[in-house]
Amino acid sequence: MYFASDNAAPAAPEVMEALSKANTGYAQSYGNDEIMDRVTAKIRDIFEAPDAAVYLVSTGTTANALSLSVLTAPWQTVFCHRHSHIEEDECGAPEFFTGGAKLTLLEGADAKIHPAEFRARANSTGVLGVHNIQRGALSITNVTEMGTLYTVPEITELCKTAHDLGIGTHLDGARFTNALVALGCTPAEMTWKAGIDVVSFGGTKNGLLGVEAVIIFDPAKAWEFELRRKRGGHLFSKHRYLSAQMEAYLTDDLWLKLAKQANDAGARLEAGLTKINSFKLLHPRQANMLFCGMSRAAHARAKAGGAMYHPWPGDHPETGPDDEFLTCRLVCSWSTTDAEIDAFVAFVQG
Ligand SMILES: *Cc1c(COP(=O)(O)O)cnc(C)c1O
Repeated sequence: MYFASDNAAPAAPEVMEALSKANTGYAQSYGNDEIMDRVTAKIRDIFEAPDAAVYLVSTGTTANALSLSVLTAPWQTVFCHRHSHIEEDECGAPEFFTGGAKLTLLEGADAKIHPAEFRARANSTGVLGVHNIQRGALSITNVTEMGTLYTVPEITELCKTAHDLGIGTHLDGARFTNALVALGCTPAEMTWKAGIDVVSFGGTKNGLLGVEAVIIFDPAKAWEFELRRKRGGHLFSKHRYLSAQMEAYLTDDLWLKLAKQANDAGARLEAGLTKINSFKLLHPRQANMLFCGMSRAAHARAKAGGAMYHPWPGDHPETGPDDEFLTCRLVCSWSTTDAEIDAFVAFVQG
């Protein structure tokens, strides 16, 4: 019963097989391997973007920080949600890789930027000339940090505001495929057709060992990205092992299958838990993550039964009333089983 994070899950067997297969003979280094040529073609095809530049890195933080670095100058600001990963979980990497750009934190329910607030804040940014931080980029996350979804029209509206102001747009897609499968749209519809310029296309949380793609729809930014990736120490020499993971991921719809398994597990967990009286969802469950609350006694039963998950947002106090309502985050992965879910629900129910 492991619901701490989807990055605690194993890598998919198909990915391990592909790695083993790639581990024969010689291959060109630094991204010039033949597997990478096929990955680039495949991603361009999947995204209906024949000119897109495609790069692989090993962490989501790198994907986000390097993506933002090609959209934002040091004297500019990135508009993002107060609870975005780039603000709360990346140790200042976006600020570091952009050479000191600012983050402007926006509000909005369920970790989604409110379009009117973005418009107001963006319109009032940089209006006093040289004294002000200048507008740089918009960064949104789908699936959001609270497990909710931006719909395609919502993405389109935010991107239109950004483009009207002349700034670029970035999508943190650490859980890109979970969002895609839940929305039932195409990759193009969720990204460039809605106005997204650069995508962090996650793989690690959905069955890879550690690969994320960065997809840049405007090829004019490609060379700068390559230089920044190398300078930042993130150009892998034995790159074929990154390429092999991504190729396996995109073969026979594995990426879609794995995300659907994770989302289905999230739905089953929600269905089981919402039958329990003292259980409450704090945000709508729209993909593979639940932000929820239950009594201290229910937490104690689940923990004693061996369940693993994080209290959210902070630690639970050591002692207190049994019926005290305490919140947590539960994340399902592609490898979460029905048996794990049903056992967890039974412990919570008591
Ligand atoms: C996990 C995650 C990332 C990437 O994190 P790394 O630990 O750097 O791989 C980025 N954005 C979001 C929203 C995430 O959940």
